[in-house]
Amino acid sequence: MKSRSTNNYDILYHCTFFLWSIQLKRCSISLKKGRNETCVFHILKKANVWLDEGEKNMRCLRCQNEDPKYFYCDHGTWYCRKCIAFGRVDVGEVPTKVSLKRKKFACCYKLKYPLTPKQSVAVQQIMHYLEQKQDVLVYAACGAGKTELTMEPIQTYLRAGKKVCFAISRRQVVLEIRDRMQEAFPGLHVIAVCQGYTSITDGDLIICTMHQLYRYHQCFDLLIMDEIDAFPYRDNALLEAIAMDACIGEKLMLTATPDEKILEKVEQKEIAMVELFQRPHGYPLIEPTVYCMPVFFQALWLLKFLKEQKKQGIQTLVFLPTITMAEHWYRIVRCTHRCMVFTSKSKDKEAIIDEFHKKKYDFLLCTTILERGITIKGIYVVIVCADHPVFQEASLIQMIGRVGRNIEMPTGKGVFLCRHKTKDIKRCVRAIHMMNQKA
Ligand SMILES: [Zn+2]
Repeated sequence: MKSRSTNNYDILYHCTFFLWSIQLKRCSISLKKGRNETCVFHILKKANVWLDEGEKNMRCLRCQNEDPKYFYCDHGTWYCRKCIAFGRVDVGEVPTKVSLKRKKFACCYKLKYPLTPKQSVAVQQIMHYLEQKQDVLVYAACGAGKTELTMEPIQTYLRAGKKVCFAISRRQVVLEIRDRMQEAFPGLHVIAVCQGYTSITDGDLIICTMHQLYRYHQCFDLLIMDEIDAFPYRDNALLEAIAMDACIGEKLMLTATPDEKILEKVEQKEIAMVELFQRPHGYPLIEPTVYCMPVFFQALWLLKFLKEQKKQGIQTLVFLPTITMAEHWYRIVRCTHRCMVFTSKSKDKEAIIDEFHKKKYDFLLCTTILERGITIKGIYVVIVCADHPVFQEASLIQMIGRVGRNIEMPTGKGVFLCRHKTKDIKRCVRAIHMMNQKA
């Protein structure tokens, strides 16, 4: 007959096994149920609960993770699962360093239009901080020409034989920036590293997605990061750690909508800030007009507005908060209007944008997928249900920022249709007004 303590042990043991087997499922480890303490110890070890003193202080040398719950043991070797998507790095293992060619380039960039006086001042300020080995945040209005500000630093670093990388969140923009940089620096071999372009990873100047930075452990003397407030880099501690790991020198960060976290660093003087709120054509940013009304009336208002736009031959971008809404509204209006819907689900995205550029459609119904990067001459913008939680301040600023970018058509109209003014709407209106005041 079993003693009471043995029974208690059994109950405890079964509970422990059950709980840890759930943990094990997470890390895809299967163990046969055994009835000895060695096995329980093994389970605890595998489930990453039983750590030796040394193992409690583990650190991943790529993503700098120190949280024990992200370390797993594979046949006695601990590795980091926080950054496993970028390939396995064992604890204590220095990530593989690619050898990049370094040489001094006697390069000289050329621009289509000379820098405006305000852009030149911003460039001087950036260079001043970089010379002092300080990281810099460029806070520039949408369409203020922030990419042009990076060319002088790129030239200076390349002339000194240093390695430069321009990283940005979205793949499409990587390809665009690659073309722009190649045009500005015709003597250099500018390469893009992103999905579909990973066979060549070294060039005179590297343009890549934030994700691809994992390839470049301790490589760059100047790391330029564009749209740091955009998904997926924003609030992504892993991508941030990967970026920090790739940079051994200075960081030059660009944004039109900085978040509070980075502004705090500016306040604490960890990062220097350079502002540029004037667009090259000198016209102010479009301040949005806000109309409050129920959704049904928003639809009526929009149809009337689009009719007027069509008469005047002006194209419009209509932003909706969700894919379902965009597709629903498209089904209603496509019978009477030349229009198209553009969401993350759309096939042939490039073809749709191309046809819109060619004025095949009077307007495009889209989600926040088009809030950045797109520049269409003379476009107006309407945001329907602007009080929807998906439209945060940064999104609203970016969407309104599509208007009036072209030097030939620097004015336009941006409208928010909402049931009530949210905090984000108020903040967006205030921020744009502030930029115009400072410009
Ligand atoms: Zn890691």
